[in-house]
Amino acid sequence: MINQAKIHLKNIFGYEEFRPLQREIIENILKRRDTLIIMPTGGGKSLCYQIPALLFEGLTVVVSPLISLMSDQIGQLRELGIKAVALNSIISYSEYQNNIACIMKNEARLVYLAPETLLMPKTLEILSNRKVDCIAIDEAHCISEWGHDFRPEYRKIVGVRLQFPKAVCVALTATATPRIQQDIKDCLHFETSNEFIASFNRENLFLQIVQKINPVKQTIEFLEKFPNQSGIIYCLTRKEVDGLAGVLKNAGFSVKPYHAGLSDEERHQNQELFIRDDIQIMVATIAFGMGINKPNVRFVLHYNLPKNIEGYYQQIGRAGRDGLRADCLLLFSYGDIIKIKYFINQKDEKEQRIANIHLNALVGFAETNECRRIPLLRYFGEQYSLPSCEMCDNCSSPEHELVDITIPTQKFLSCVKRTGELFGTSHIIDVLRGSKSQKIINFNHDKLSTYAIGMEYSKQQWFYLSRQFLQKGLLRQDMEFGGLRLTPQAWEVLQGKNHVFGMLEEQKDTYTRGKKEEYDYDKVLFEQLRQKRKELADKTSVPPYVIFPDKTLIEMATFFPQSGEALFQLHGVGAIKFEKYGNIFLELLCQYCQTHHIEEKFKLIKAVSFVSSEKIGKHRHILVGEGFNSGKSIEELTAEFSVKPNTIISHLYKYITEEGSSLRYSDEFLTLLTISPEQREAAFNAFDRMGTERLKPVFDALDGQVSYDELHLLRLWFLVGKTGDIARF
Ligand code: ADP
Ligand code: ZN
Repeated sequence: MINQAKIHLKNIFGYEEFRPLQREIIENILKRRDTLIIMPTGGGKSLCYQIPALLFEGLTVVVSPLISLMSDQIGQLRELGIKAVALNSIISYSEYQNNIACIMKNEARLVYLAPETLLMPKTLEILSNRKVDCIAIDEAHCISEWGHDFRPEYRKIVGVRLQFPKAVCVALTATATPRIQQDIKDCLHFETSNEFIASFNRENLFLQIVQKINPVKQTIEFLEKFPNQSGIIYCLTRKEVDGLAGVLKNAGFSVKPYHAGLSDEERHQNQELFIRDDIQIMVATIAFGMGINKPNVRFVLHYNLPKNIEGYYQQIGRAGRDGLRADCLLLFSYGDIIKIKYFINQKDEKEQRIANIHLNALVGFAETNECRRIPLLRYFGEQYSLPSCEMCDNCSSPEHELVDITIPTQKFLSCVKRTGELFGTSHIIDVLRGSKSQKIINFNHDKLSTYAIGMEYSKQQWFYLSRQFLQKGLLRQDMEFGGLRLTPQAWEVLQGKNHVFGMLEEQKDTYTRGKKEEYDYDKVLFEQLRQKRKELADKTSVPPYVIFPDKTLIEMATFFPQSGEALFQLHGVGAIKFEKYGNIFLELLCQYCQTHHIEEKFKLIKAVSFVSSEKIGKHRHILVGEGFNSGKSIEELTAEFSVKPNTIISHLYKYITEEGSSLRYSDEFLTLLTISPEQREAAFNAFDRMGTERLKPVFDALDGQVSYDELHLLRLWFLVGKTGDIARF
């Protein structure tokens, strides 16, 4: 049966491979074992019951509380040629009649129901006349009183389950706490319970947090990286949503607001515009997102700090459901913490305590220097163990040697002390930079010995420094009022007992670093394909992604298929869609390729292959080293592993130092360098004298004339000369 499932995967859904756990889950369901599926949003839960639904003889009943999502799902299934119908309170009477008839006639493979509809005697009567093979309960956490989405009617589904003892029961959720898991299993009387918990790591999301300094400007800079693409901006309040949406609209962006203060109609309308790619950007409060299934959301920007990690995770989870790279940026400010504190303070004492713990975990996540996936996944009880995810700001920023920042640290700390440990970062910086603001005059802070002693650094640099002081535990921020306080470690620094090392400059152009795009596709063609898709979607009144996901269009613009056979190889092209749309797209493709003299490429030779997860494992440096020795260039490896050249160089370094292997000489050592032969010689001499463990002494010995990036490469070259059997010059 699983072979049949695999065939359906390609023939009907158009997908090559199962995503992690899908195969095991489908197998389990086909063996009629009750199954609990815990998978993050976008993990591909629906497919787990949709494929069995095609293989079972009888009906699959899907219970879902999100009525708005039902029609979306059904629309997608119908496009795939799968007969699915809905029974809920929003469909018209005639549609209801039709759907019932469809069930009675044994035509429908799946029926989607709201829980309250399922519980109606009429519905149960209809179902009892049919063979029900599977009951899938989506958003299964709604069963549990421990969850925040508890729905009493969900508990009653249990009774229905007992009426169909032969049907296998599948519960699905993206909420992970063990207590809720147990509750679901208990409630549903899962006897031979089999649970499948997928990793909550969403590999394709690039995670980044930057200090919020000029949020509007930062937002616009970020948005400019995503022309014609969909994304969501989350703000804390309705007022902020309206304000920002207005500003962005005036700046020429295609945006709409979404929050609970708008009329139902306007909200619905704006959501539809977004889903159908009629507008690009949704500025919203967290009220937005539950009912949408749009797979091609390319970015989520948090204009304000979310309240906790769970919320953050849920919101960023709406990006990149299609598995393609998506960017998540959070603008972080201590001012926002204070705003959230204000909300928390409205709660009762116990709730306050819990909310504070959650907020602190989030702040810890924001301030961390380690891979962002470590604290994020730790929150969900998962341990992230790869040395680098390459998809967060911390992992993808180039290694920087730290400099001695003891003096600015002392200045800052003593200014905190002299102002009475009552003020926030911004005010301290104003004092250090000699501001003449009213606040400074009022507090007589212009009379302090620390007034205007920090003019050598910009405000931005001071902000960046202060964040490091917090991370290093020299300062603590009062969660209530935002004032900075010294810690015992700070005193050691002030007394000159300890030196502090850090960085003076934050990385510029921080927004789209990390792994580069997976495909190098023809953007002009893509745009034409996108327009064609939109045209077709509008004609049948469905969202464009229902016709084909973005990834299909990207593959078209990468491999230029010009025959049916080649087109069928592509992601998302199943038999029915091929039949429906194949010729329309082929026509466009052939025409374009003829005009531009482009030949078809085989899909197997992917432009840039996505490295499979087992390859990413611990021994990546070995793979890189072996690849290099087999003749691949640094440039080719950069593309193959979708990383920056620097990362390849550090893998190669590791290959030599940790594995004791040798590397071949490559002309690239020379061509990638921009320094003079004299400098190169001086660097090699310095490595000879000072060793290769640390670059800082060599950097200093060369008077800072050779950048760290070049030193990394020079070191590699130097070591190749030593370990390899080929001369280095
Ligand atoms: P979830 O319900 O877990 O949030 P979905 O079932 O909506 O996730 O799936 C997210 C997206 O991933 C959908 O667009 C779906 O078609 C796609 N998808 C699911 N399984 C696969 C697969 N094996 N290969 C490629 N895409 C898949
Ligand atoms: Zn990382």
